Amino acid sequence: MVVNAPSPQAQDTQTAKYEKVPIWRSPITQAALTWIGFLTGIPTIISFGKIVYDFGVIFLSKNFTGTVASNISQEMILLSITALIFASVISIRRITKQALLVPLSHGSFGLAVDGSGHRLSIVKVKANPCPICGGGMRYYARPTEWTSYQDQNGNIKRRVSKRTPVLGSARFLAHFGSRPSL
Ligand SMILES: [Zn+2]
Repeated sequence: MVVNAPSPQAQDTQTAKYEKVPIWRSPITQAALTWIGFLTGIPTIISFGKIVYDFGVIFLSKNFTGTVASNISQEMILLSITALIFASVISIRRITKQALLVPLSHGSFGLAVDGSGHRLSIVKVKANPCPICGGGMRYYARPTEWTSYQDQNGNIKRRVSKRTPVLGSARFLAHFGSRPSL
C-alpha cells in the first residue's frame, strides 16, 4: 500500500528561507565527473559488446567450451563493476549539473551535499525562522511516500520509499513542508 503524505496548505503560500554555511569544498567538479563518466562509460560499452559477441560465437558455432564460459563470466564481472561506477558517477554528476542540495543521512544536523557552482561541497543549512509562526526551522529529508507493513510482533511499521528535502517548522508540524527557496 502506497501512502502519499497530505500536502500542507502552507506549502504554496509561504516561502521558507535558508542560508548555506560552507563546511567543505571538495575537489570534485562537474568537469571531473564528466571525464570519469566518459572513462568508465567506454569500458562498459566494450565489455557489453564482448559479451554479446561471445554469445554470438556460441550461438553460431553451437560449441560451448569451458574457455568461452570463463571468458563470459570474467567479462560479466568487469561489466558489473564498470557499469556500477558509471551509474554512480552519472547520478553524482546530476547534483552538480542541476545544482541540487541533497540532505546527508536524511538531513541530520542540517548537513547537505551542495552541487552549486558545478562542484560538490558539504554545507550546513541554516534555516531562517518559520514564516508562519516565527519558530525554529530545520532542514531534513521528509518522507513523502511509504508502504505500511506488519512486523513479526504485529506492530504496524512503515518503510519510506521516497523523501523530499524540506525546511520544517520545529514548533508546529503542520507548518512543515514550507518550500525551500534561495
Ligand atoms: Zn512554524
